[in-house]
Order: sequence, then structure tokens, then C-alpha cells
Amino acid sequence: MGESIAAGLDQSAGSLELRADCGRCFGLCCVAPAFVRSADFAIDKPAGQPCPNLATTSFDCSLHDRLRKKGFGGCAAYDCFGAGQHVAQGTFGGRDWRAEPELAGPMFAAFGVMRQLHELAWYLRSALEYRPGDPLAAELTSALERTARYAGLGPAELAALDVAAHRDQVNPLLLRTSELLRSRDGSPGPDLRGADLTGRDLTSKDLRRASLRGAQLIGARLQNADLRLADLTGADLRGADLTGADLRGALFLTQSQLDSAARGPDDGPA
Ligand code: SF4
Repeated sequence: MGESIAAGLDQSAGSLELRADCGRCFGLCCVAPAFVRSADFAIDKPAGQPCPNLATTSFDCSLHDRLRKKGFGGCAAYDCFGAGQHVAQGTFGGRDWRAEPELAGPMFAAFGVMRQLHELAWYLRSALEYRPGDPLAAELTSALERTARYAGLGPAELAALDVAAHRDQVNPLLLRTSELLRSRDGSPGPDLRGADLTGRDLTSKDLRRASLRGAQLIGARLQNADLRLADLTGADLRGADLTGADLRGALFLTQSQLDSAARGPDDGPA
């Protein structure tokens, strides 16, 4: 984040960690959510039950270096945006659900809410980094500070928080940011919000300044596509081929989206 933006935020918003640090978490993403067997998860698992691949004497994954090979590509692409270590070390002060089983329910519930708050904070911070200018920047800053205040609540308050209502207030701001940026120096690109482009051949397609918010791009062929300044909020890029795609300035593109895209022959063993 640029110095001037960081300086304008209150301390809690500025210091909110939005990158996962699994070493300070208690495996919350491996226990709290339910899994449904699919191409991304090799097993079914109910919410609140530890994944059988989670070590029993630590919070490490026994498959961490071969998740995709073993059918757990969803884990490799998952991002908690730092919510895991926040709940583990902040909200619950380093107490873990294994040593104190009575904490499991409240901790897993808090993680579900915190993950949403940290994700919203990531989008808001990204929006500010795009420097949209006032009055939008002021509104984004205020929303980020509010999000950080919510993230600082205790377990009971988090459980009672109407995070959906907060998201409904934040989303229009992010949408306005996207529209502003995509039309700032020219006409916005095609509106493909929510489009089902699964498996489509979009090779070398001009998608500059397009809105691809929530678009289904699973397995799409995007080789050499021009995605500069395209809004990729929540776009499903699982298995998409981005070889040679121009992603400079792409908006709201997360590392987990990139990680979920097709892996080339030099991408390693997972
Ligand atoms: S496979 Fe590994 S990373 Fe995925 S949920 Fe299980 S323990 Fe966690």
C-alpha cells in the first residue's frame, strides 16, 4: 500500500494482515468448512470435522506438497486472506481448539465471519491502491476502517455480526471503483458480468477494460488474451489457460484465482 493511503487509515485498518500465515493458524480452513467431493476436493467432509490429511500432532497438512496430485486442488488455491491467524492469535489469543475442545464451535464460527471480513478488506485495500481519487477514496477508506473494527470484535460479537449487510454496503463501492477505473482513459470494455464462458476459446481476445465480475471461466482458453484493466472480481478461473495473457492492471485479481488457473509443464510437482 502506498504511504499516503496508509497514512490516511486508522491504525487497525492499516495493520490488518491480509496474507495467510498458516504457521500461526490452527488449521481452521482444514476443519471449519464442509467439503463436498468434487474436482477440487477428493472427499466429503462435514463442517467442524478435521480433514483426515491434517496431522494429529500439529496443524500441518500431510499432503501439502502434492495437493493437486491427490485431488485437493481446492486447498492449494484457497486463500483465507489472513483470517486464520487473526482468529487463532487475535480473537482467541493463541488458545487452540484441540487443547480446549470447548473453543471449537465458537472458533470455527468466528473463522467463517472473519474470512469474509478479511476478503472484503483485501478488496477495499486493493481499490484504494488503484487510487480512484475522492470522494470515492474517502468512502473506501471509511468502509475499510469499519471492516477492520468489525474484525477486531470478540467471538460473541462476531457471531452476531450481520456480515451480509456489511457486504451489501461495500459491494457498490467496489463496483463504482471498477466502473471509474475501466472508463477513466477510454470506453469501458464488454460487460460480461456473471457470463458463463466455461471452456470457451478466448484466445487473443480483446478483453481490455471488460467486466468479468463473477464470470465462469473454468477451463477457458485465454492464451494471449488482452485482459488489461479487466475487472476479475470473483471470476472462476479454475483450469483456465492464461499462457501469454496480458494481465497488467487487471482489477481485483487474487493470487488464489491465479493459482487455480491451469498449470503449465514447468509449474512444479503439485
Ligand atoms: S488436504 Fe490438507 S490443506 Fe486440504 S483440508 Fe486437508 S489437511 Fe487441509
